[in-house]
Amino acid sequence: MSDLNNIYAEFGISQKVVDLSEKVLSSLEERFLEIDKNAEFNQMKVLAAMQKHKVSDIHFAATTGYGYNDLGRDVLEDVYATAFKAEAALVRPQLVSGTHALHVALSGNLRPGDELLSPVGKPYDTLEEVIGIRDSRGSLREYGVTYSQVDLLPDGSFDFEGIRKAINEKTKLVTIQRSKGYATRKTLSVEQIGELIKFVKSINPNIICMVDNCYGEFVERIEPIEVGADMIVGSLIKNPGGGLAPIGGYIVGTKECVDNASYRLSAPGLGKEIGASLGMNTSMFQGFFLSPTVVAGALKGAIFAANLYESLGFDCHPNATEPRFDIIQEITLRDPKALCAFCEGIQAAAPVDSYVKPEPWAMPGYDSDVIMAAGAFVGGSSIELSADGPMKEPYSVFFQGGLTWYHAKLGIMLSLQKIYDAGLL
Ligand SMILES: *Cc1c(COP(=O)(O)O)cnc(C)c1O
Repeated sequence: MSDLNNIYAEFGISQKVVDLSEKVLSSLEERFLEIDKNAEFNQMKVLAAMQKHKVSDIHFAATTGYGYNDLGRDVLEDVYATAFKAEAALVRPQLVSGTHALHVALSGNLRPGDELLSPVGKPYDTLEEVIGIRDSRGSLREYGVTYSQVDLLPDGSFDFEGIRKAINEKTKLVTIQRSKGYATRKTLSVEQIGELIKFVKSINPNIICMVDNCYGEFVERIEPIEVGADMIVGSLIKNPGGGLAPIGGYIVGTKECVDNASYRLSAPGLGKEIGASLGMNTSMFQGFFLSPTVVAGALKGAIFAANLYESLGFDCHPNATEPRFDIIQEITLRDPKALCAFCEGIQAAAPVDSYVKPEPWAMPGYDSDVIMAAGAFVGGSSIELSADGPMKEPYSVFFQGGLTWYHAKLGIMLSLQKIYDAGLL
């Protein structure tokens, strides 16, 4: 009874799905080995940063109130700065989400009359209101910061001529989104980001180059600071929180950029000096420590899913063999029932709320109903196994995460099982 197949059977997975999965997996050994090697490299990078800054149990103590002299908070920021090869970092539970961290980074570094440029097309949905692409109260636009955008060329490459034309004497900051998020373009590699930054700096070296690093951390061996970014920004309930950070965001970069952001997060004059860590330092340190291996598990899950579903005739982005630069996987299911069944499988595999059946629902900001599957320890965490998709053509599911590879694998197997059970394949 200690056979793996028996325990899979208890989850309702048929021999057919087990066999298909094993067949697909046997072709992935080399890729998984490469992922493990990257994880080892990144694990060493984080460990070395922790040792360099002499992380000790005194850093796990909670502070309250103003949080002056919060040693743990300050050392955590030094660890982030070192691991990401930057001068300074702001890593705080008071940065309540990725969008908030991006807003603080942008509004702290832009002044009225400045222009913000996105040379990689439209940014992530929630940034439209931050920037003022969609009318919204309190946007950068209301504060006199203008915005311009250059789309990627149809083949996904940078429109260097367009970018050169768009840069003018007002251009103060360039925002580069690493992950495609839920858009249809490809995710950028750190190397590609480096080429873009070099080009921008060749026109005007004073332009601040910021990278929205969400979903990209530890997927590669280098991070965007190493190819010239002045500032990188992300969320702790994605990759770098390692599934343990219960909240938080980070802004890492030059001392000047990070200080400017800190004056926006707290207040001019106060900056990084203030902000109690409220007992969250341990989870933030430990989550960062685990993040490289957690990201590796999520990556294996994404690659397994692409290979499994592509072998059954579904379009996958990235496809089965493409290199990976973030942890998101899109599968075009072409059928609303299959989309629901897929999400039911992910939900049924969850450690939390596995007995819940996800239903499509209207969501603010979406023009169609959306179905979501998540059974997470941390609310909304997307480094944990989660899936969602808008109930409209082409009925694509986006999924990401998995705190362990084995859990991601089970979720994907169950997603396929539910599609078979519904008679859709
Ligand atoms: C998730 C994400 C954001 C926003 O982060 P939230 O925590 O959801 O506010 C911004 N940009 C990208 C590329 C993302 O993936």
